[in-house]
Amino acid sequence: MASVIDLPAPTEHAQPADAVQNAVRAKVNLLGMSRAELEGFFEQLGEKKFRAGQVMKWIHQYFVTDFAEMTNISGKLRAKLEQVCEITAPEVVHRHYSKDGTRKWVFRVGDGAGSLVETVLIPAEDKTGSRKTLCISSQVGCALDCSFCSTGKQGFQRDLNPDEIIGQLWVANQSYMEDVPVAERERSVTNVVMMGMGEPLLNYDAVLSSMQLMLDDFAYGMSKRRVTLSTSGVVPKIDQLAQDIDVALAISLHAPNDELRNELVPINKKYPLEQLIAACQRYLAKGGNESTRKHVTIEYVMLDGVNDHPEHAQQMIKLLKNLPSKINLIPFNPFPHAPYGRSSRNRIIAFQKTLSDAGFVCTIRQTRGDDIDAACGQLVGHVADRTRRAEQWKKKVAERQEIIRSQG
Ligand code: SAH
Ligand code: SF4
Repeated sequence: MASVIDLPAPTEHAQPADAVQNAVRAKVNLLGMSRAELEGFFEQLGEKKFRAGQVMKWIHQYFVTDFAEMTNISGKLRAKLEQVCEITAPEVVHRHYSKDGTRKWVFRVGDGAGSLVETVLIPAEDKTGSRKTLCISSQVGCALDCSFCSTGKQGFQRDLNPDEIIGQLWVANQSYMEDVPVAERERSVTNVVMMGMGEPLLNYDAVLSSMQLMLDDFAYGMSKRRVTLSTSGVVPKIDQLAQDIDVALAISLHAPNDELRNELVPINKKYPLEQLIAACQRYLAKGGNESTRKHVTIEYVMLDGVNDHPEHAQQMIKLLKNLPSKINLIPFNPFPHAPYGRSSRNRIIAFQKTLSDAGFVCTIRQTRGDDIDAACGQLVGHVADRTRRAEQWKKKVAERQEIIRSQG
């Protein structure tokens, strides 16, 4: 994120050289700033700290990007803000709203085809009412190279900054507001899962400050039970997270023994299962009685003939016996050249039954958004592919036109 130290703003008496410098100096983007950062920013401008809360509400609750609309702020301050800062979400290059209510966005966060990230919103009805869960990305690509994951196959491109992370939530909420007057606007997303592209614990600071905004009453005011971070198991960062914020934790387990997990989730070689389970136990213990941390969610992708045997279910029972957990079985989403297939429905149900009979809460994730390619990990691949195909098609048309022209 742009540093607040780059300020202060251009003065009225700026010399020509300063004016040029100021013109090239990028405006500070307020979108990804936490409350503490924004308070510091206003203090640097010589303003009172409480302005931070006012501006945060305009940005994150009313989706206002034009300082002129911030009517509880003086005209003078609005003009000053206009000069030195902006509220800019990442660029949406593709969006689609499905018949089943699923929505997806592809954002461009840099130059080139490799700079796309995806965000998916999945609605669901449950006993507490209707949920809208947003799946947010934290990195472009991922360095951890899990063998069943299309993001991993892209390699690591770069970390997203806080503007780009919280910007995904901002855009999703804003998508319901287009014709709603400012005074009547309300946030629509009820739950966030950090389960999009990338490993959130390897972009720790940006993810932490984005999650702080999600929980902040001046921003999204979400319940800590409704913000979930999913990790493949970066053990030291799980301990750090336990100190820094109280959110729900999900672990991408995918294998019940080290031998298989080393193959599917290579970071297991660095932090094997024993260390991972111990870190989860510490995470739950750290929360104390007041905490929402009653269990961790265990994610387990169902790969046909690879990790779905009855003995794997038995190993899961042993592995998790001292860890309060809820298990979520994920039918594998295939992608081009994937070396795996999806376990059959019967096999998934048998796996679930073994775990349920042993006393675990075990659910099967519904595959949603198939009609818009929004299923987990597939989106960017399809968009990139379409872009390539469009380019090839344009080239073919141009070649044909050339031939027609040359034939007179
Ligand atoms: N890096 C983090 C969060 C992003 S992945 C993590 O690994 O937890 C979010 C979830 O989607 C993880 O559980 C991941 O294992 C799962 N996933 C990845 N590729 C998948 C695929 N092709 N089919 C089904 N689930 C997949
Ligand atoms: Fe990275 Fe998660 Fe994919 Fe593994 S599953 S490669 S950690 S995004």
